[in-house]
Amino acid sequence: MIEALNLSRVANAVASMGIMRRAYTEAKAYANNRKAFGKQLTDFPMVRETLSTMGAIQEIGLSTMFMVIKLMDKVMGGKQRASFKEQILFRLYVAIMKKETAEQAIHFAHDAIEMHGGNGYIEDFVTPRLLRDAQVLTVWEGTANILGLEVIRLISKYQAEELFINDMTKRLQTAKKESPLDEKIIHFVKQGIDQLKTEINQWKVLNPDLQTYYSKRLSDKMTRILTSVIAVEETVTHEERQVAVAEVFFHHSWNDKGINDQPAPLKHFSKIVEY
Ligand SMILES: Cc1cc2nc3c(=O)[nH]c(=O)nc-3n(C[C@H](O)[C@H](O)[C@H](O)COP(=O)(O)OP(=O)(O)OC[C@H]3O[C@@H](n4cnc5c(N)ncnc54)[C@H](O)[C@@H]3O)c2cc1C
Repeated sequence: MIEALNLSRVANAVASMGIMRRAYTEAKAYANNRKAFGKQLTDFPMVRETLSTMGAIQEIGLSTMFMVIKLMDKVMGGKQRASFKEQILFRLYVAIMKKETAEQAIHFAHDAIEMHGGNGYIEDFVTPRLLRDAQVLTVWEGTANILGLEVIRLISKYQAEELFINDMTKRLQTAKKESPLDEKIIHFVKQGIDQLKTEINQWKVLNPDLQTYYSKRLSDKMTRILTSVIAVEETVTHEERQVAVAEVFFHHSWNDKGINDQPAPLKHFSKIVEY
């Protein structure tokens, strides 16, 4: 049953990525063609932020899913035998990424509707259908709560958190050596891993009912760490655009943002969106 579910959850995540990509493409096309208050929508900084951020999130999400699919090939009947650690990590990645991509598909459909203004709400445009289709992806193949339970089952039964933390720490250290990203940016992930360790230790002494209460929080923290490690890994080629994508992704996921005169989504708009 778990095997069948993991396969269909991967398919669900790929479908979610498809909706994210379509929503991004529709939002971009509309913003490029619509004028309001005498300007092109893409001239407004807030519109630029939305599009840059959508671009970065969907690219990092896609790279993460390809990593999971590669692991799936190994775990499910590939020629190579998957280790026990790989089997557990696969189950963990499927659970957290199914939740993340399905929820992102809804956010993306919402952002695409908003980009279209009133037109986004009416059926002459594809956007209402994107939102409707996205909404089922969070429900079938396991709701967020059920996926949260899978995460804590993997922790309780197989110490999946140790495998995850070791894997993430190692991959981050390796990628960091080659990555041109600012040390301060990468430090956010290191801090995130330390915080996860602390929280899981506190969580372990809770009663089982209360443990379930925190399952989605743990899942979301793991997702943020996993996708961020992938974002850093993607920059080791030093390709300018990948660095821009990672900086916008980190700006969205970790920075408290503050106020400055060159926020990443505006700085990298052309590299990401007009590519
Ligand atoms: C369009 C559509 C097509 C479908 N097609 C198929 C199909 O082809 N084959 C198939 O087998 N199924 C199919 N399903 C069923 C789908 O997989 C289930 O609807 C889904 O898994 C949710 O289960 P449920 O409806 O029984 O909700 P419930 O289990 O009743 O859940 C209701 C709510 O309670 C929460 N909840 C339930 N248990 C817990 C718990 N232990 N802890 C915390 N919260 C909990 C859930 O998260 C959810 O929010 C389909 C569903 C839809 C909408």
